[in-house]
Amino acid sequence: MKRDYYEVLGVPRDADLQQIKKAYRKLARQYHPDVATDTPEGEEKFKEATEAYEVLCDAQKRQVYDTYGHDGLRRGGGGAGGFDGFEGFGDFGDIFSNLFGGAFGQAFGGGFGGGQQAGPARGSDLAVEVELDLEEAAFGVEKEITFTAQAVCTECEGAGTTEPDSVKTCADCGGRGQVRTVRRTMLGQFVQMGVCPRCSGTGQIIENPCAECKGAGRRPAERKVNVNIPAGIDDGQRIRVTGKGGAGERGMRSGDLYVGVRVRPHEIFERHGDDILTGVDLTMVQAALGVTLNVPTLDGDEEVEFPAGTQPGDIKVLRGKGVTHLNGHGRGDQAITVRVIVPRDLDEEHRRLLEQFDESVGAEHYAERSEGMLHKLRSFFTS
Ligand SMILES: [Zn+2]
Ligand SMILES: [Zn+2]
Repeated sequence: MKRDYYEVLGVPRDADLQQIKKAYRKLARQYHPDVATDTPEGEEKFKEATEAYEVLCDAQKRQVYDTYGHDGLRRGGGGAGGFDGFEGFGDFGDIFSNLFGGAFGQAFGGGFGGGQQAGPARGSDLAVEVELDLEEAAFGVEKEITFTAQAVCTECEGAGTTEPDSVKTCADCGGRGQVRTVRRTMLGQFVQMGVCPRCSGTGQIIENPCAECKGAGRRPAERKVNVNIPAGIDDGQRIRVTGKGGAGERGMRSGDLYVGVRVRPHEIFERHGDDILTGVDLTMVQAALGVTLNVPTLDGDEEVEFPAGTQPGDIKVLRGKGVTHLNGHGRGDQAITVRVIVPRDLDEEHRRLLEQFDESVGAEHYAERSEGMLHKLRSFFTS
């Protein structure tokens, strides 16, 4: 026994279109096979709801159903209400696109062949990865990326044949690329538009296809693409290169190339946003007396002065020595954290000197207590 369509959707008999859509959307979300994987009856419920929705959202079909019930619909073209089966009933994709819009509709449509596309296929999007040094990421670089993917056939230049005269209109579909099939089922007569099997939807038959690509106009090949990687790119980011993905069939649009960026960890530089963190070791004497040292930066060594009385954890900031801001101007900073190293394994003479020094230096010289590295780093990031 077939359930009443209003009952299936859980709406009153005088429900308006909005109510019907809302009810169906709710059920579809609940029972769509892609969603409700753990409920075996989900697919049945989904089909039932879709069928009910198809009828009730169509004024003509709804009237037939209201007047004659399921029998009225089953009579199809011969019925009193007289409509031609379920035109396009199989095309769930369209229903979903209308209901949910873009992405959701497509995601659902895919499972039912609703996204079935006629004609030559466009090229597929590809994802590749490129590994960079920190310096390359900081300043930008042009990289040649090599990968294997569909490329335009060089023999026929994508036409699928080297003899243009051998391209004929498909006799089965008259060049439309689609054929109508009529199916009789318990639900009634289904009229479906489908991709023409003879020409695969292209509407054309190539009598002498290109020997290299068998008429596809593309074939797998090693591809080289030069990619401009902008300064400031960071690990995990992606660059889209339009039209550099897989070639389409017979001159159709190419897909896009997505280049995922990996940045190799650097031996001495640690990146933090657009800032660079480094450390420098001062001996306790250098820290106490002050010293000028060559410190590595992204631009090469730079002379940096550490004043007398430099404390462990002190941070020296080199403005504008960090990574270039992506899509902007200027650069981040470089922060140099001071570590103070203490001598080990001192002999008697050294010990004596230090003890002597210690006795002669009053507590006031130690007045500035170390704030601790974390505190100082925190104030660098908030500055
Ligand atoms: Zn070819
Ligand atoms: Zn055809």
